[in-house]
Amino acid sequence: MLPITYILLYYTFSIVDSKRKKAVLILNDYRYTQDRIRNNNTYWKCEDRSCTGRASQKCPDDPKKTQQHSHSPNQDQCNVEEFTTNVKKRIREESEPVRKIFRQELVKLRTKNPDQVQSVPMFEQIKTSLYSARNESFPPPPETLADVKVDGKWSQTLNNEPFLLPDTQNLIFGTIESLDELSKNIQNVCYRNSITLNPKFATLDFEQGAISACACELLFPDVKIKGCNFHFNKCLYIKLQNLGFQSAFINSGGNPNEINVRNLNKKTSALAFMPLTTVKDLWSQTMDEYDTINGITPFFDYVTES
Ligand SMILES: [Zn+2]
Repeated sequence: MLPITYILLYYTFSIVDSKRKKAVLILNDYRYTQDRIRNNNTYWKCEDRSCTGRASQKCPDDPKKTQQHSHSPNQDQCNVEEFTTNVKKRIREESEPVRKIFRQELVKLRTKNPDQVQSVPMFEQIKTSLYSARNESFPPPPETLADVKVDGKWSQTLNNEPFLLPDTQNLIFGTIESLDELSKNIQNVCYRNSITLNPKFATLDFEQGAISACACELLFPDVKIKGCNFHFNKCLYIKLQNLGFQSAFINSGGNPNEINVRNLNKKTSALAFMPLTTVKDLWSQTMDEYDTINGITPFFDYVTES
Protein backbone atom coordinates (compact mmCIF):
# COMPACT_ATOMS: atom_id res chain seq x y z
CA MET A 1 0.00 0.00 0.00
CA LEU A 2 1.38 3.41 -0.91
CA PRO A 3 1.68 5.77 2.01
CA ILE A 4 -0.64 8.74 2.07
CA THR A 5 -0.05 11.77 4.20
CA TYR A 6 -2.76 14.29 5.03
CA ILE A 7 -2.05 17.44 6.95
CA LEU A 8 -5.23 18.92 8.32
CA LEU A 9 -5.85 22.17 10.08
CA TYR A 10 -6.79 20.70 13.45
CA TYR A 11 -5.06 17.35 13.55
CA THR A 12 -2.72 15.25 11.51
CA PHE A 13 -2.96 11.71 10.36
CA SER A 14 -0.73 9.62 8.11
CA ILE A 15 -0.69 6.08 6.89
CA VAL A 16 2.94 4.95 6.89
CA ASP A 17 4.82 1.78 5.94
CA SER A 18 5.72 -0.45 8.81
CA LYS A 19 8.73 -2.76 8.73
CA ARG A 20 6.41 -5.65 7.88
CA LYS A 21 4.93 -3.69 4.96
CA LYS A 22 1.63 -3.40 6.80
CA ALA A 23 -0.19 -0.13 6.92
CA VAL A 24 0.21 1.81 10.16
CA LEU A 25 -2.02 4.74 10.99
CA ILE A 26 -0.48 7.66 12.82
CA LEU A 27 -3.18 9.84 14.34
CA ASN A 28 -2.28 12.68 16.67
CA ASP A 29 1.06 11.03 17.51
CA TYR A 30 -0.46 7.64 18.35
CA ARG A 31 0.32 4.57 16.23
CA TYR A 32 -2.41 2.13 15.21
CA THR A 33 -2.30 -1.12 13.28
CA GLN A 34 -5.12 -2.14 11.01
CA ASP A 35 -7.62 -4.30 12.87
CA ARG A 36 -10.28 -5.09 10.28
CA ILE A 37 -12.16 -3.64 7.32
CA ARG A 38 -15.94 -3.93 7.20
CA ASN A 39 -17.93 -2.42 4.34
CA ASN A 40 -16.53 1.10 4.00
CA ASN A 41 -15.13 1.18 7.54
CA THR A 42 -11.54 0.57 8.52
CA TYR A 43 -10.95 -0.17 12.21
CA TRP A 44 -7.59 0.56 13.83
CA LYS A 45 -6.27 -0.61 17.20
CA CYS A 46 -3.45 0.89 19.25
CA GLU A 47 -0.07 -0.67 18.46
CA ASP A 48 0.41 -1.21 22.19
CA ARG A 49 -1.57 -4.43 22.71
CA SER A 50 -2.22 -3.67 26.38
CA CYS A 51 -3.93 -0.38 25.43
CA THR A 52 -7.59 -0.13 24.49
CA GLY A 53 -7.06 2.94 22.26
CA ARG A 54 -9.03 2.57 19.01
CA ALA A 55 -9.77 4.59 15.89
CA SER A 56 -12.01 4.08 12.89
CA GLN A 57 -12.36 5.56 9.48
CA LYS A 58 -15.43 5.63 7.31
CA CYS A 59 -14.39 6.11 3.71
CA PRO A 60 -14.05 8.82 2.40
CA ASP A 61 -13.91 10.61 5.78
CA ASP A 62 -10.75 11.03 7.86
CA PRO A 63 -10.05 8.61 10.73
CA LYS A 64 -11.30 9.49 14.22
CA LYS A 65 -10.26 8.30 17.66
CA THR A 66 -13.06 6.19 19.17
CA GLN A 67 -11.49 5.01 22.45
CA GLN A 68 -8.94 6.71 24.74
CA HIS A 69 -5.35 5.50 25.19
CA SER A 70 -3.89 4.52 28.56
CA HIS A 71 -0.49 6.13 27.79
CA SER A 72 0.99 9.31 26.40
CA PRO A 73 1.75 9.72 22.67
CA ASN A 74 5.22 9.16 21.19
CA GLN A 75 5.66 12.28 19.14
CA ASP A 76 9.31 11.78 18.14
CA GLN A 77 8.82 8.31 16.71
CA CYS A 78 5.72 9.41 14.80
CA ASN A 79 7.52 12.42 13.35
CA VAL A 80 10.38 10.27 12.13
CA GLU A 81 8.02 7.78 10.51
CA GLU A 82 5.98 10.46 8.80
CA PHE A 83 9.14 12.10 7.54
CA THR A 84 10.72 8.91 6.16
CA THR A 85 7.42 7.73 4.66
CA ASN A 86 7.04 11.00 2.85
CA VAL A 87 10.65 10.92 1.60
CA LYS A 88 10.19 7.33 0.37
CA LYS A 89 6.95 8.22 -1.36
CA ARG A 90 8.77 10.91 -3.34
CA ILE A 91 11.71 8.58 -4.04
CA ARG A 92 9.33 6.00 -5.52
CA GLU A 93 7.42 8.51 -7.61
CA GLU A 94 10.14 10.93 -8.75
CA SER A 95 13.42 10.58 -10.57
CA GLU A 96 15.41 13.20 -8.60
CA PRO A 97 18.51 11.84 -6.80
CA VAL A 98 17.70 10.17 -3.47
CA ARG A 99 20.00 12.43 -1.46
CA LYS A 100 18.52 15.54 -3.06
CA ILE A 101 14.95 14.52 -2.13
CA PHE A 102 16.06 13.81 1.44
CA ARG A 103 17.69 17.27 1.69
CA GLN A 104 14.64 19.01 0.23
CA GLU A 105 12.32 17.34 2.73
CA LEU A 106 14.66 18.20 5.58
CA VAL A 107 14.66 21.85 4.53
CA LYS A 108 10.84 21.80 4.39
CA LEU A 109 10.67 20.31 7.86
CA ARG A 110 13.14 22.88 9.21
CA THR A 111 10.91 25.65 7.86
CA LYS A 112 7.63 24.17 9.05
CA ASN A 113 8.52 22.36 12.28
CA PRO A 114 12.09 23.22 13.36
CA ASP A 115 11.59 21.34 16.68
CA GLN A 116 11.12 18.05 14.85
CA VAL A 117 14.38 18.18 12.87
CA GLN A 118 16.47 16.82 15.72
CA SER A 119 14.45 13.59 15.88
CA VAL A 120 14.94 12.86 12.15
CA PRO A 121 17.79 10.41 11.40
CA MET A 122 20.82 11.46 9.33
CA PHE A 123 20.88 10.50 5.66
CA GLU A 124 23.71 8.00 6.24
CA GLN A 125 21.63 6.18 8.87
CA ILE A 126 18.64 5.50 6.63
CA LYS A 127 20.18 5.59 3.16
CA THR A 128 19.95 1.79 2.72
CA SER A 129 16.19 1.77 3.11
CA LEU A 130 15.86 4.92 0.97
CA TYR A 131 17.83 3.35 -1.88
CA SER A 132 15.75 0.16 -1.59
CA ALA A 133 12.65 2.29 -2.06
CA ARG A 134 14.20 3.69 -5.25
CA ASN A 135 15.10 0.20 -6.52
CA GLU A 136 11.52 -1.01 -6.06
CA SER A 137 10.51 0.96 -9.13
CA PHE A 138 13.41 -0.21 -11.33
CA PRO A 139 13.81 -3.61 -12.95
CA PRO A 140 17.24 -5.27 -12.49
CA PRO A 141 19.83 -4.12 -15.08
CA PRO A 142 19.91 -6.35 -18.18
CA GLU A 143 22.89 -8.67 -18.62
CA THR A 144 22.35 -9.66 -22.24
CA LEU A 145 20.57 -8.09 -25.20
CA ALA A 146 17.80 -10.67 -24.78
CA ASP A 147 17.11 -9.25 -21.31
CA VAL A 148 16.37 -5.83 -22.80
CA LYS A 149 12.62 -5.61 -23.19
CA VAL A 150 11.44 -2.55 -25.06
CA ASP A 151 7.68 -2.61 -25.22
CA GLY A 152 4.58 -0.53 -24.70
CA LYS A 153 5.05 3.21 -25.11
CA TRP A 154 8.84 2.80 -25.18
CA SER A 155 8.62 0.99 -28.50
CA GLN A 156 6.24 3.48 -30.10
CA THR A 157 6.33 6.98 -31.55
CA LEU A 158 4.13 9.73 -30.11
CA ASN A 159 1.55 8.68 -32.72
CA ASN A 160 1.61 5.11 -31.34
CA GLU A 161 3.36 3.72 -34.40
CA PRO A 162 5.98 1.00 -33.93
CA PHE A 163 9.40 2.60 -33.36
CA LEU A 164 11.45 -0.56 -32.96
CA LEU A 165 12.55 -2.09 -36.24
CA PRO A 166 12.55 -5.89 -36.42
CA ASP A 167 16.07 -7.23 -35.94
CA THR A 168 17.31 -10.15 -33.92
CA GLN A 169 20.81 -8.87 -33.15
CA ASN A 170 20.40 -5.17 -32.50
CA LEU A 171 17.96 -2.69 -31.10
CA ILE A 172 17.17 -0.39 -34.02
CA PHE A 173 14.92 2.56 -33.35
CA GLY A 174 13.08 4.02 -36.33
CA THR A 175 9.91 3.60 -38.31
CA ILE A 176 9.42 1.60 -41.49
CA GLU A 177 8.27 4.91 -42.97
CA SER A 178 11.58 6.65 -42.17
CA LEU A 179 13.50 3.67 -43.50
CA ASP A 180 11.35 3.77 -46.63
CA GLU A 181 12.00 7.52 -46.97
CA LEU A 182 15.75 7.00 -46.65
CA SER A 183 15.62 4.21 -49.20
CA LYS A 184 13.54 6.30 -51.67
CA ASN A 185 15.89 9.28 -51.44
CA ILE A 186 18.89 7.11 -52.18
CA GLN A 187 17.03 5.39 -55.00
CA ASN A 188 16.00 8.73 -56.55
CA VAL A 189 19.57 9.98 -56.59
CA CYS A 190 20.67 6.74 -58.19
CA TYR A 191 17.85 6.83 -60.75
CA ARG A 192 18.71 10.40 -61.81
CA ASN A 193 22.33 9.37 -62.26
CA SER A 194 21.53 6.04 -63.93
CA ILE A 195 23.14 4.06 -61.15
CA THR A 196 21.95 0.59 -60.21
CA LEU A 197 21.62 0.60 -56.48
CA ASN A 198 23.76 -2.16 -55.11
CA PRO A 199 26.34 -0.55 -52.84
CA LYS A 200 29.33 -2.60 -51.78
CA PHE A 201 30.40 -0.07 -49.17
CA ALA A 202 28.74 2.56 -47.04
CA THR A 203 30.63 5.25 -45.13
CA LEU A 204 28.84 6.46 -42.05
CA ASP A 205 29.19 9.27 -39.62
CA PHE A 206 31.18 7.70 -36.82
CA GLU A 207 29.22 8.97 -33.81
CA GLN A 208 25.98 7.77 -35.38
CA GLY A 209 27.75 4.80 -36.91
CA ALA A 210 26.46 2.14 -34.57
CA ILE A 211 22.85 3.13 -35.23
CA SER A 212 23.07 3.94 -38.91
CA ALA A 213 25.08 0.81 -39.63
CA CYS A 214 22.18 -1.38 -38.57
CA ALA A 215 19.66 0.50 -40.71
CA CYS A 216 22.03 0.35 -43.66
CA GLU A 217 22.50 -3.39 -43.23
CA LEU A 218 18.74 -3.84 -43.24
CA LEU A 219 18.46 -2.05 -46.59
CA PHE A 220 21.50 -3.64 -48.19
CA PRO A 221 22.42 -6.95 -46.59
CA ASP A 222 25.68 -7.27 -48.57
CA VAL A 223 26.96 -3.78 -47.81
CA LYS A 224 30.27 -3.27 -46.05
CA ILE A 225 30.21 -0.49 -43.48
CA LYS A 226 33.26 1.78 -43.47
CA GLY A 227 34.27 4.17 -40.74
CA CYS A 228 34.59 7.87 -41.36
CA ASN A 229 37.74 9.90 -41.87
CA PHE A 230 37.52 11.38 -38.40
CA HIS A 231 37.61 7.90 -36.92
CA PHE A 232 40.49 6.92 -39.21
CA ASN A 233 42.56 9.92 -38.07
CA LYS A 234 41.71 9.28 -34.44
CA CYS A 235 42.92 5.67 -34.72
CA LEU A 236 46.24 6.76 -36.29
CA TYR A 237 46.76 9.32 -33.54
CA ILE A 238 45.97 6.84 -30.77
CA LYS A 239 48.28 4.22 -32.30
CA LEU A 240 51.18 6.70 -32.41
CA GLN A 241 50.46 7.73 -28.85
CA ASN A 242 50.40 4.13 -27.66
CA LEU A 243 53.75 3.51 -29.33
CA GLY A 244 55.27 6.29 -27.21
CA PHE A 245 55.27 9.13 -29.76
CA GLN A 246 52.92 11.39 -27.83
CA SER A 247 55.66 13.98 -27.22
CA ALA A 248 55.65 14.74 -30.98
CA PHE A 249 52.11 16.13 -30.63
CA ILE A 250 52.56 18.18 -27.48
CA ASN A 251 54.46 21.17 -28.92
CA SER A 252 54.88 22.34 -32.47
CA GLY A 253 58.72 22.34 -32.33
CA GLY A 254 60.66 19.31 -31.18
CA ASN A 255 63.58 17.26 -32.44
CA PRO A 256 63.86 15.93 -36.04
CA ASN A 257 62.40 12.60 -34.93
CA GLU A 258 59.30 14.29 -33.54
CA ILE A 259 58.87 16.44 -36.66
CA ASN A 260 59.10 13.26 -38.73
CA VAL A 261 56.40 11.58 -36.63
CA ARG A 262 54.06 14.53 -37.20
CA ASN A 263 54.72 14.52 -40.94
CA LEU A 264 54.23 10.77 -41.12
CA ASN A 265 50.87 11.18 -39.33
CA LYS A 266 49.75 13.86 -41.81
CA LYS A 267 50.80 11.87 -44.86
CA THR A 268 49.11 8.72 -43.58
CA SER A 269 45.89 10.68 -42.97
CA ALA A 270 46.09 12.08 -46.50
CA LEU A 271 46.00 8.56 -47.96
CA ALA A 272 42.24 8.52 -47.38
CA PHE A 273 41.86 11.21 -50.07
CA MET A 274 44.04 9.55 -52.71
CA PRO A 275 42.64 7.44 -55.59
CA LEU A 276 42.29 3.83 -54.45
CA THR A 277 44.66 2.52 -57.15
CA THR A 278 47.50 4.76 -55.95
CA VAL A 279 47.16 4.17 -52.20
CA LYS A 280 49.35 1.07 -52.09
CA ASP A 281 52.31 2.74 -53.86
CA LEU A 282 51.98 5.97 -51.92
CA TRP A 283 51.96 4.07 -48.65
CA SER A 284 55.13 2.16 -49.65
CA GLN A 285 56.84 5.45 -50.46
CA THR A 286 55.75 6.93 -47.14
CA MET A 287 57.13 3.94 -45.22
CA ASP A 288 60.48 4.24 -47.07
CA GLU A 289 60.62 7.94 -46.29
CA TYR A 290 60.08 7.52 -42.55
CA ASP A 291 61.65 4.19 -41.70
CA THR A 292 64.46 6.01 -39.90
CA ILE A 293 62.05 6.79 -37.04
CA ASN A 294 63.07 4.54 -34.20
CA GLY A 295 60.34 2.04 -33.21
CA ILE A 296 57.92 3.00 -36.00
CA THR A 297 57.56 -0.51 -37.51
CA PRO A 298 54.45 -1.46 -35.44
CA PHE A 299 52.72 1.67 -36.80
CA PHE A 300 53.58 0.62 -40.37
CA ASP A 301 52.21 -2.87 -39.66
CA TYR A 302 49.04 -1.42 -38.12
CA VAL A 303 48.27 0.83 -41.10
CA THR A 304 49.12 -1.89 -43.62
CA GLU A 305 46.76 -4.36 -41.89
CA SER A 306 43.98 -1.80 -41.52
ZN1 LIG B 1 -2.62 3.27 23.04
